Amino acid sequence: MQISKHRRRIERHISLRARLCLAFILFTVIVSGLLWFFEIVLLEGFYYTSKIKDTQKIAVSINAAYGAKGFDEYLTNLSVNNQICIEILDERHRVTYEHDVMNDKCLIHGPDNYLNALLMKLQNESDGVLSMNLYDEYIGLETLVLGSTIVKNGKVQGYLFLNTPLEPVGSAVSILKDLLMVITGLLLIIGVLIAFYLSDWLAVPIVRITRSAHRLAHGDFNTKFEGGSYREVDELARTLTYAEQQISRVDSMQRDLIANVSHDLRTPLTMLKAYAEMIRDLSGDNPVKRNAHLQVIIEETDRLTMLVNDILDLSKLENGSIRPEMQTFDITARLGDIVARYKGVSEKMGYHIHFTPDDPEQVTCDPAQIERVICNLINNAINYTGEDKNVYVRQVNTPECVRIEVRDTGKGIEEDKIQKIFDKYYRSENHKREVVGTGLGLSIVKAILKIHEFHYGVNSRLGEGSVFWFMIRRHTDKE
Ligand code: ADP
Repeated sequence: MQISKHRRRIERHISLRARLCLAFILFTVIVSGLLWFFEIVLLEGFYYTSKIKDTQKIAVSINAAYGAKGFDEYLTNLSVNNQICIEILDERHRVTYEHDVMNDKCLIHGPDNYLNALLMKLQNESDGVLSMNLYDEYIGLETLVLGSTIVKNGKVQGYLFLNTPLEPVGSAVSILKDLLMVITGLLLIIGVLIAFYLSDWLAVPIVRITRSAHRLAHGDFNTKFEGGSYREVDELARTLTYAEQQISRVDSMQRDLIANVSHDLRTPLTMLKAYAEMIRDLSGDNPVKRNAHLQVIIEETDRLTMLVNDILDLSKLENGSIRPEMQTFDITARLGDIVARYKGVSEKMGYHIHFTPDDPEQVTCDPAQIERVICNLINNAINYTGEDKNVYVRQVNTPECVRIEVRDTGKGIEEDKIQKIFDKYYRSENHKREVVGTGLGLSIVKAILKIHEFHYGVNSRLGEGSVFWFMIRRHTDKE
């Protein structure tokens, strides 16, 4: 645990270039090691094994062709092409064929050959095959001798002897050693050069982006993040540019928020103070005036409470501490209830709320939160509708969802403002103080619909009014 922590601390201080150099050196060492091992340690073994295998193959093919037409010619070709001495004896040990390619230096030909001894040895072999590596000090050569009994139809027909020189591998190994030294040196130099080039190529864009990120960290939201070179850096640059836009947006929203909250709190607080002073200094003894002033104080306190509650609710919705409590209920009946409640209050003030239901439909969502969305939209529609004071609430069932629309006949919203109205504290410039609201209503609507993952939006035409809508996914048995 302690060691790995220590190692990580050290690793953190190793630069990309050093890491790449180390990796390439390690790679070179491994490749050279493998080359050395195969070429030098295993070469001799490989050579002997393959020589024996090849000679055995030749013996098998001679055995198979024994006595066939053109047999002698076939043997001579084999002997010359493979640099192999061949001797064939018949069953009575008489020479029937011989070919020497080693100029009497072979063990089965020449003046001091070992043929008789080898023949005796072969006859003692139970499987009729003899294979030996022999070093002849006199001729100073190591050779491979292979003997085989020629059997046809279960009868011994003769004996085959092959003798081929085994080239000394030692000299080849020493040449290879020199060569491998040069190759290893070259590999190391090339490896380090590639590591330097690669580390520059990888690190330069990262260093550039890090410098830009430092500037961003110090509040420069106009920093440019340049990608280039390779895909990962491009992606990093794009992500940081996106993060920069978001941070800049949040930063300006935060500034607006502080400005708006302080403005919204200051106005009712100033009013509260002013009316309280008026009661103290002027209207204290006049019950009619005093009550009127107290009424203003109560209304302003309500406004203040509403604002504080909205701020708290919105932050809870946004940071996830309020989760929707899902229930399945009849949205048509719920809409009817809400509109009926509004009718009682608003019709006294001359507003007409029209409700066009569709077929009764079951939906699954948080009923209290969805009711809050609908009420916020109806409140806004009442606040912003035209002279005719009409507000239209409509339910439209589609195959996938239930669409709820709240329409007013007001001035409508300009194209460029539509993007902003769901932002916190956004209130149009022509917003009047008589229109009760905190500037947070639509942000709360947006936050609730977002946690439900419902689509929402607004269609508006200047001079004709606006339609605020959202879609509740239908209740299915799966949910
Ligand atoms: P508030 O109504 O308290 O100002 P909202 O978040 O509910 O805050 O609305 C934000 C802004 O969106 C409003 O100030 C107004 O400019 C605009 N808006 C909302 N609803 C409507 C509507 N039905 N018609 C026109 N403008 C609207």
